[in-house]
Formats: sequence, C-alpha cells, structure tokens
Amino acid sequence: MFKKKKFDMFKRKKKFKATLLVLIFALIYGLYALYVAFAHNPGFELLSKNTISYSGLKAKIISDNTKISMVKVSLGTKEKSIYTIYEENNLDSDFQEKIISIPFTEEDKVVKFIKKNNLKSLYLYYEIKYKNKFFNSDLDKKIKISIDFQPPSIKSVRTDSYVYLGGIGYVIYETSKDTFLSYVDTGLNKKFYPIAIEKDNLISNLVFFTCGNRPCKNGKIKIVAEDLSGNSISLLRKMKTLKNKNWKTSNIVIDLSFLLNKYNEIFDSNLSIVSLENFLELNMILREKNNIEISSNTSAISNKLITSGKFYQMRNSKVFSDYSEKRDYYFQDEDKPLMTTYHWGYDLSSIKNAKIYASSEGLVSYVNNNGLGIYGKTIIINHGLGFYSLYSHLSEILVNVGDKVKTDTIIGRTGESGLAFGDHLHFGTYLQGVPFNSSEVWDQKYFLQKVLNIYNDFIKDPSNVQIKKSGI
Ligand SMILES: [Zn+2]
Repeated sequence: MFKKKKFDMFKRKKKFKATLLVLIFALIYGLYALYVAFAHNPGFELLSKNTISYSGLKAKIISDNTKISMVKVSLGTKEKSIYTIYEENNLDSDFQEKIISIPFTEEDKVVKFIKKNNLKSLYLYYEIKYKNKFFNSDLDKKIKISIDFQPPSIKSVRTDSYVYLGGIGYVIYETSKDTFLSYVDTGLNKKFYPIAIEKDNLISNLVFFTCGNRPCKNGKIKIVAEDLSGNSISLLRKMKTLKNKNWKTSNIVIDLSFLLNKYNEIFDSNLSIVSLENFLELNMILREKNNIEISSNTSAISNKLITSGKFYQMRNSKVFSDYSEKRDYYFQDEDKPLMTTYHWGYDLSSIKNAKIYASSEGLVSYVNNNGLGIYGKTIIINHGLGFYSLYSHLSEILVNVGDKVKTDTIIGRTGESGLAFGDHLHFGTYLQGVPFNSSEVWDQKYFLQKVLNIYNDFIKDPSNVQIKKSGI
C-alpha cells in the first residue's frame, strides 16, 4: 500500500512535470507568435512628404520579413475609399523593399474628382495581404495626404542668347518659392545648377552653362523647375551657337613601342608586347574612366567666386593642340580609324620641366600624385561658381588639396606622365563637370563681360538677400 502510494505520487509528479513543460513550451511559442505578429508587420511609406502631384504618387512597401501577396492602394474621402489607383495580386513575395510608382494624367477620374471639388486633401487607403511565420494577415489603413497639382513658375528670363561653340553662356530667371530643384539642360544629358538667392516671395537664379563642343540642342536651352511633390515645369529659351573657329582633325598612327612603354608605366605592368586590345584598354576604357573622375571632381558649385577673374595662359608657352581637336587613331596603314577622341583641353609646350603657375586665383581641390591614368600627375583648382582649371602630365606637384593659390604660386612642373608624347602641359577648363574652351577665360575682356559682370550684378541686389542653395 505504502509502496503503491509512493509510486503513484512519483507518477503524478512526472505527469505534472510533463504538463508544465508543455505549458512552458506553449507559452514560449505563443509569446514568439505574438512577437512575430507585432514585430513583423509590413510597412507602407508614401514618398514625397505625404503629398500627391500630377507626376503621380510614389510609395515604398517594406516587407519586414513577411511574405506579401497583395497590395491595393486607393484614394477617397475620410469616410470611404472611392478610386482604386493600384492593385497587385501577384507580387514576388521575397522582396525586402519595393517602390511603386503610380502616374496620373488629366484624364484620370481621380484627378477630375479632385479638380471638380477643388480638394486640398484626400485620404489614401492601403491594404496589404501578407503572411508571417504563423498567420495570414491583412493590414488595412488610411492616411491623410495633401494635394499639390500646382507646378512652380519660371519667369523674368534674361540672357544675351548666344554662346560660342565650346564656350560659356548664362541665364538669369526667377522661380516661385515652392521650387525645390531647378536646372538648365543644354542637351548634353547633364544638368547645370544655379546659384540661387532667396528673396521675399521668389527665388532668383543664375546659371552658367556650356553646350560643350556642339551647338545647343535645337538652338535652345531648357530651364526646369520642380517642387517637392514632384510637379515640374520647363521652359525653352533660344540660344544661338556662334562658330568662330574650326577645330582641326589630326590623324595619329598608333606607335606600338610608345604604346608598350606607356601601357607598362600607366598600368604598372611588365608586358613585353602590346596588342590593339591593350591600346583600346588604355585609350578608350581608361580614358573614359579618367574623364568621369575629372567630371565628378569639377562638378560642385561654390556660391562665391574664388578668383579675380583674370586667367593667364601658361607663361612662355605655345599652343600646339586645341580644345575639341578631333583625333583619329589608325592602326598601321588601315583606311578606317580604329577610334576617335576629342581633346578636352589645350596642349601647351615650353621648356622641359617648366614651372607652372596657377592660371588664376583659386583653391586646390584635387591632386593626383600617382597619376590619373592617361592624364598622369594632375592638379585641379576650384575658382568658384562651378569653374575649374586642370593641369596634367606633370613631372612634379608642389601643392596640396586645400591650398589657396595665386597667379604667382608655382603649383608644379611640366612633364610627360600619363599618355603624353613629350614634355608639355595639358591645360583644361571645366564648368560643372563639362570641359569648355579655355580661350574664353584667357580672353579677360570676354570673361568679364560674360561671367564676372553678370555675377556681380546678380549678387549685389540691395534687398536683404541670402544664398539659398546651389541646387545640388
Ligand atoms: Zn592634351
């Protein structure tokens, strides 16, 4: 009897322990499931500051480790959703984040509804069907959004309406206060940003631009202004391109032993023979890469001028190759050129290892002592307002990034580093990353008329002005 009781107690204890364990596991599992349910929920984030515009609506869907199977977005009043503007039932469920873009047109029912009722705000409803580790679930929410269908305005456009081929142009214009971003497009697939001054109820913009070594696209430039909601307006303005010079084309026969030397120097390699492939690797691929590096190091705009505006050609030097000179490269006596390049600067010859002075006052913004590929040892000086000068193929660099330089500062010595045939200086001028004809800065009278006077007039407004942003 006693024995049995003891045995029963033992059995009961064991049963109790097992039940407790099951309960604990169930509790942990339950807590975990709750954690998953609360912690892993998909998200919906409206981009462009909870505003919708004509350009449409952009939103980010965040899966947060759930599998999303359906997303539906609609617009309506506070009481009910009325117009479905997006519905996707076959979403690839493995994404972490997904941007959805819903464009609007004047013809859309929802746009007509907004206009008819002159609405200033709406409600955006979104529904997301998803599955976390345990459940299928449904997220159903609404948010209030504002409506902004009004693009910024552009007015009072002023320009002298011409540029020389390869040269600089300017345009001044005003945009409404809601302008978030403004720029000028000259057809180069590149944006030229303004120096902007914020006044009481508008923004005054001055843009210096270049159309590169070709005429401005269709004889025009495009001025663009965008607001925060994504509304955008553009305006075309006539821009005549005057041709004052014909640039020559030179035919270059590829010299394989010169190429071998330069290839080994630039790539720090030890080849004993080079092929045409090596030539293209150097003169096409590396050249392109180097030009991109120069462009990105000459793109930033300082609101202030860092130069007196007087630029000088290198002392005692002679030009032997112009800006935009076309170079056709031939292999031996083949008829067709293997490739063509344009020369984005001036080649200036002097004595060997000649002293190089800064072309104008400025701030050293880039130094490459190891050699910038085909350009060799290179210095870039920032002159402000998006203007830069570049010095390449140097044998020696005597300045550092951040140094203030003047026209009597010796910044380095000429050489033949990089893909240079003989000792010379390759000098280039850039505006917001685009090379332009340096003869326009060397012609001090022209630079004064086209850039300095325009900038000084623009900046000396009597009202209490403040530089807003350079647009980047
Ligand atoms: Zn050159």
